[in-house]
Amino acid sequence: MASAKPSEPADSDKLETMRHSASHVLAEAVLSIFPGAKFGIGPATQDGFYYDFDLPRPLTTEDLPVIQAKMKEIVAADLPFTRDEVSKDEARQLFGAQPYKLELIDDIPDEKVSVYRQGNFLDLCRGPHVSTTGQIKAFKLVSIAGAYWRGDEHNPMLQRVYGVAFATEQALEEHLKKLEEAARRDHRRLGKELDLFSIHEEAGPGLVHWHPKGSVVRRVIEDFWKDEHVRRGYDLVYTPHIAKRDLWQTSGHWDFYRDYMYSPMDVEGQEYVIKPMNCLGHILIYKTSQRSYRELPLRYAELGTVYRYERSGVLHGLSRVRGFTQDDAHIFCRFDQLEEEVVGVLELTRFMMDTFGFTKHKVLLSTRPEKYAGALEVWEEATEILRKALEKSEMAYQVDPGEGVFYGPKIDTKIEDALGRDWQGPTVQVDFNLPQRFDVNYIGEDGKEHMVAMVHRTVLGSMERFLASLLEHYGGAFPVWLAPVQAMIIPVADRHLDYANKLAAGFKADGIRAEVDARSERVNLKIRQAQLNKIPYMLVVGDKEVAESTVSVRLRTGEQLAAQSPDSFKQSLKQIIASRTKELKL
Ligand SMILES: [Zn+2]
Ligand SMILES: [Zn+2]
Repeated sequence: MASAKPSEPADSDKLETMRHSASHVLAEAVLSIFPGAKFGIGPATQDGFYYDFDLPRPLTTEDLPVIQAKMKEIVAADLPFTRDEVSKDEARQLFGAQPYKLELIDDIPDEKVSVYRQGNFLDLCRGPHVSTTGQIKAFKLVSIAGAYWRGDEHNPMLQRVYGVAFATEQALEEHLKKLEEAARRDHRRLGKELDLFSIHEEAGPGLVHWHPKGSVVRRVIEDFWKDEHVRRGYDLVYTPHIAKRDLWQTSGHWDFYRDYMYSPMDVEGQEYVIKPMNCLGHILIYKTSQRSYRELPLRYAELGTVYRYERSGVLHGLSRVRGFTQDDAHIFCRFDQLEEEVVGVLELTRFMMDTFGFTKHKVLLSTRPEKYAGALEVWEEATEILRKALEKSEMAYQVDPGEGVFYGPKIDTKIEDALGRDWQGPTVQVDFNLPQRFDVNYIGEDGKEHMVAMVHRTVLGSMERFLASLLEHYGGAFPVWLAPVQAMIIPVADRHLDYANKLAAGFKADGIRAEVDARSERVNLKIRQAQLNKIPYMLVVGDKEVAESTVSVRLRTGEQLAAQSPDSFKQSLKQIIASRTKELKL
C-alpha cells in the first residue's frame, strides 16, 4: 500500500481508513495499560471502529476515558504508520505471544503478509492506514461489549471496545446527539416506562409478554389491519400452531430451514413441530376443494403466530425475538392475474405505511440468486411482472441483483424512522416452489390443471417488530388513535371526583379510552405523570369546570386549549381518532 499514488480516494474511503487507523491507536493504548493484552481484530464500522481484546480483567465504562486519554497522547505524538512485508514464518515469530493473530496468519493463503507499526504497536494488517496518527481526527470511545472470537460461541469471549470517529468535531457532536436520542427512544426502555411489554428470563429469552397497555395498541392495529384486509377482498383464516413434521418435509422446510425450527415433539408416536411459517396451513385450506379459474384470486390473511430459533446472543427487545405474530397473507392466483395482485399489495402497503406515519420508504426488487427453484423463463417472467407492478404503482425502486429467495423474486420495503434509520417493512414474494411441492392448482378455462401463482406477503412484518419501530419512530408518543390511554381526567380535589367519573363514563361510552387519576396527589404531579406516560390529553377539572360544566384541556406538548364543553371536546377527539392523524388538534 506504500508508494504508488493513484487517484485520490473518495471521502468515504478516507473516513474509513481514518476510522480503521483509530482502531490501531486504540490497541496501542490498551497495550500500554495492559502489557499482556492479546489482540483479536480491529475493523472500521459504519460510524467508527472497534477492537477485540483478551484482557486479564473485565473492562468497565470507567476504563474508557483512561484509554481514550492514552489514545489522544498517541495522536498528539503524530507517529508514522510504517508498513513491512514479511514471510509467514517471520510473522509467526513476531506474533508468537498472540494466539489470535497466529490463527489469522494460518488462514492467509499468500506467502507473505503485511504488518504495520505505529509507536510500540505492531499489527498484522492489510491496510490501508493514514500516514501518521496525527491525522486521526474527532473520535470518542462509546461502549464495551462481549464478542466471541470470530463470532463463534465455541470460541473464547473477547472484550470489544467501540469508538466513533468523524472528520470534524462538529460531525462527531452531531453523531453523539443522535446516539443519545436513539437511546432515549430505545423501545426496550420505552416498553418498560410505558408499561407495554416484558420479556422474562424464567419464561425464556425472546418470548414477549404483552401487558394491558401494549395489548391495547396491538388490538387497535389488528382491528384496523383486519378491517382493511376484508375491505380489499382478503378472507381471514386461522391455522394451528403445530403440525406433523411430515408436512414440513414435503414443503422442504425440514431440509432447508431446520436450523430455525424447534425440535419435534412426540404426540402418540408421531412427530409434530411448531410452525415457523403460516404458508402451509393456507395451502391446506386452498386444497380442500378443486379450484376453478373463476374462483381466483383467493387471498387468505392471518395474524399468525410463529416460532423461529434465533441464537440468544442476537435477540434484541421486540425486534429480534423467538416467537412473533406475522401479519401474513397468501394470494393464490393465475399467472395473468399476478401483476394486478402485486399492484394491489403495493397499494395496500403504501396506504398502511402512510397511515402509520412512515412517509419515507426505500423499495428493493430482489432478483434471481445463483441457486434457485423453478424454470429460468418463469423466473424472468415473474421478475418482469414485479417490475411492471412497481412501475404501475409509480414506486421508485432499486434492483438488488441476486438477492431474491431461492423460490422466487421479491419486493422488500425498508421504512425510514424519524431518526433516519431503516426498518424492515413490507415484503412481497412470488413462490414457485410450494405450489409445485404441494401440487397447488386450479382448473383453467381449457378444462386442464394449471399450477397457481402463489404470493407470500406481510405488510407490517410482525406485531412485535412493528411495535418496536412505532415506539422508536414516535419516541413513545403514539398518535391519538393508537395511544393506550387517550385522555387522562385529573380532578383537582376529591370533591371533583364525581364529575370526573361522569366525564370518563361519557367518553368510554363513545369508545374513547379515558381514565381518571383518582389518587389524592397534587395536580401538578398527576399532570407530570400523564405527560411522562405520553398521554395525548389531560383534562383538569376543578371548581370552575364543575360549576360551568366544562373541561380544561392540556396537550402532552404542554399547550393549553380554551375551556370547552365536554361534548365539543368529545366530538373533535372522535374526529381526530377516526382520521388516524398524528396531530393533536384539528
Ligand atoms: Zn490496519
Ligand atoms: Zn408464506
